[in-house]
Amino acid sequence: MTTPLAKKPKTPKRRTGRNVAPDLAADLAPWKLRRAGRLQLLEAPPLASLDWLVHGFSTRPGGASDLGDLGGTGKAHRDKAGGSRKTPDRALNLGFTDWDSREQVAENRRAFLRAVGAGHMRAVTLRQIHSDIVHRVDSPDNAAGDPPGGDALFTRAPGCLLAIQTADCVPILLADTKQRAIAAIHAGWRGTVRRIAAKTLGRMQMEFGTRPQDVVAALGPSIGRCCYEVGEDVAREFHAQFPEARQWFDGPFDPLAAGENDPNWLPWLTMMPPGHQPPPLRVHLDLIAANRAILTEAGVPSRQISSSGFCTACRTDLFFSYRREGSTGRLMAAIGIRKQIPPRRGKSL
Ligand SMILES: [Zn+2]
Repeated sequence: MTTPLAKKPKTPKRRTGRNVAPDLAADLAPWKLRRAGRLQLLEAPPLASLDWLVHGFSTRPGGASDLGDLGGTGKAHRDKAGGSRKTPDRALNLGFTDWDSREQVAENRRAFLRAVGAGHMRAVTLRQIHSDIVHRVDSPDNAAGDPPGGDALFTRAPGCLLAIQTADCVPILLADTKQRAIAAIHAGWRGTVRRIAAKTLGRMQMEFGTRPQDVVAALGPSIGRCCYEVGEDVAREFHAQFPEARQWFDGPFDPLAAGENDPNWLPWLTMMPPGHQPPPLRVHLDLIAANRAILTEAGVPSRQISSSGFCTACRTDLFFSYRREGSTGRLMAAIGIRKQIPPRRGKSL
């Protein structure tokens, strides 16, 4: 892989089509969907060009879990008449959800790690709690025992594989190309509003001497601006934290952020009888744009930040979407430092 970071692709592959959020299209780097046996892995070119690490974003097809009873995709639900199930939806669920067995998930995880090229590594995971808690990993042994609560991991220890689970939130992978350090971050709206990506980068700066200008960032499949409707609580928190927050929202952001959505005064103002009030105001949030801005503000050059362009809610054929499907599977984003670097072929950072 020799994709230069500084140049935008001439013809982004997934630029057209209704399944790509239009606002993300301008940022599209040509991410690759790579087949690995029965699985398909999504790879970020800036990370794939670094020979000292392995990485991958999982997709839905090809696993061994049965989502048939959950009715998620519309092609795998029982019909109303009497339970004749359509084609079972075999999916790569990588999270320990209540509807899937631990053995099944463990088997899926092994298949995913093999596909990533990390079959010999143990994944360090977290009990994700939508926080801004960042954990440093110093040894692959950190994979043993119950995972700690938190939402970001970073390391520079060879042999460590860091893994984040998502089903709409933004998975962010970072690589410091000079110090050879990496991070995996889970950024939903709560983590984003707490700037978890910048805080992770801050820890890498303090503890490893990472310089933001040496960092490449990959923002994986997550719910897009097209589908991510949020209410007043989210708008107000972003407004309070970021002067530029308005740019990341579509819809009536200003009245929502100003708290002018109070149902108590709306009926009085509009003279509407009870039960005929207009519905509460809603806006759409672009988590990718917000995290991109947070990383840029922290010093990562924008040309070194790439996003997949996929919306998980639009593309439940390829991903899991908690917002769209409710009970569903979990995707995984993983990044690890190789113990042995294969012989160099061509240029890398
Ligand atoms: Zn969408």
